[in-house]
Amino acid sequence: MAKRDYYEVLGVHAQVTETELKSAYRKLAMQFHPDRNPGNAEAEARFKEVSEAYEVLKDPNRRAAYDRFGHAAFEGGMGGGGQAGFGGDFASAMSDIFDEFFGMGGQRRRGGGGRERGADLRYNLEIELEESFTGKTVEIEVPTSATCVTCSGSGAKPGTSPTTCQTCKGAGRVRATQGFFTLERACPTCQGRGTIITDPCEVCSGQGRISEERKLSVNIPAGIEDGTRIRLAGEGEAGVMGGPSGDLYIFLSIKPHAFFQREGADIFCRVPISLTTAALGGEFEVPTVSGEKTRVKVPEGTQTGRQFRLKSKGMPVIRSPQFGDMYIQVVVETPRNLTKRQRELLEAFEEEASQDNHPESHGFFSRVKDFFEGLGT
Ligand SMILES: [Zn+2]
Ligand SMILES: [Zn+2]
Repeated sequence: MAKRDYYEVLGVHAQVTETELKSAYRKLAMQFHPDRNPGNAEAEARFKEVSEAYEVLKDPNRRAAYDRFGHAAFEGGMGGGGQAGFGGDFASAMSDIFDEFFGMGGQRRRGGGGRERGADLRYNLEIELEESFTGKTVEIEVPTSATCVTCSGSGAKPGTSPTTCQTCKGAGRVRATQGFFTLERACPTCQGRGTIITDPCEVCSGQGRISEERKLSVNIPAGIEDGTRIRLAGEGEAGVMGGPSGDLYIFLSIKPHAFFQREGADIFCRVPISLTTAALGGEFEVPTVSGEKTRVKVPEGTQTGRQFRLKSKGMPVIRSPQFGDMYIQVVVETPRNLTKRQRELLEAFEEEASQDNHPESHGFFSRVKDFFEGLGT
C-alpha cells in the first residue's frame, strides 16, 4: 500500500503553522492512542501513522526535505544503509505523548528490566560545493555516551547485582486512579527500572553509561545535495541498561558559493561581459565547479540574458556516472566613467546607428506608438 501524504494523515494543509500542526496532532493522537483503544489494531496503525507524520513535520529541516522529496527523503538511508524507519522510535514517541497528555512527569516508559533505547543524536555538517562535487570522507567527533564496560551497563558494581524494587515489585510502574482514568506511571522509587542499585559501579556512578567523544568516518558521496540527511544506525547514544543505541543523523548543508548556483545537478553562473565583446563577439574564460577552466565563445550581437550550455560541466548525479550541465548566462555591462574620447566615439557610433542595429528597441517603441494611436487620442 502506498504511504499516505503526511499532511493528509494529519488533516492539515501544506502551509500549516507549527501551532496548528501541534493541535491537529494532539487531537488525533488522543483519539487513536493505544491506551484508549486497547486491542484495536486499526487505531494502533493510525496512531503510528499520525506519530510518524508529526515527527517529520514538526522538525523544520525534515519538513523541508519532505516538501521537496516526499517520502523518498527518508528512504533508502544514505550512507547509513537500510530504511530510515520509525519502528525504533515508536515506543518513545508513544511515551512522549503519554507523558505530555497525562502528565507522567517526563518519565519515559521503559521496557522490561529498565532497558531503554538511547537517544537519537543530530550532527550538523557543512561542506563546500566543491566537496560535494568530489565527494569525501569526513572525520567527525560526536559527543555521546557509551555503555559502561566495567559494569556492562547494569550500573551495579562488578560482583554485585541490582535488587528488585520493593515499591513496584520489579514492574517499574505503579497504578493510580484519577477520575475516569486508571493511570499507570513510572515507579517513583526506581524511576521505572524495576530494580534498585545498592552498590553503584564506581566508573559510571551507577548510570550504566559514560560520556565519550566518538570519532566517526562519514562517507559523503559525490553529488550530495544541500539538506540531505544521513542516518547512521546505532551510532547515537547508548541505551540504558543494555538497551539498543539510538541513531545518529547527520544534517548536511552546503555553503553558498561565491559565483555558482546549483539546481539539482546543474550549475548556473552569471558572467558580466563588456559592451564591445557583446557587440563584436569574443571569448572569455570561466572556472568550472570541477576546478578546471573552460572557454566560452560569444558570437557578435550577443544580448544580456543569453545562456550558453556547457554539457556535463555541472555536478555529478549522485550514485551515477552522469554529470549535470553548466549554464553561463551573460550580462552586458554598460560602460561607465567614459573619457572625452570614448564619449566622442560613442556619439559618432550613435550618429551612424540605424534601426538594424537595435531591432528590439526599435520594434518595442514602434509598438508603443501603435498602442497610443489605437487609443484614438
Ligand atoms: Zn559502570
Ligand atoms: Zn520500583
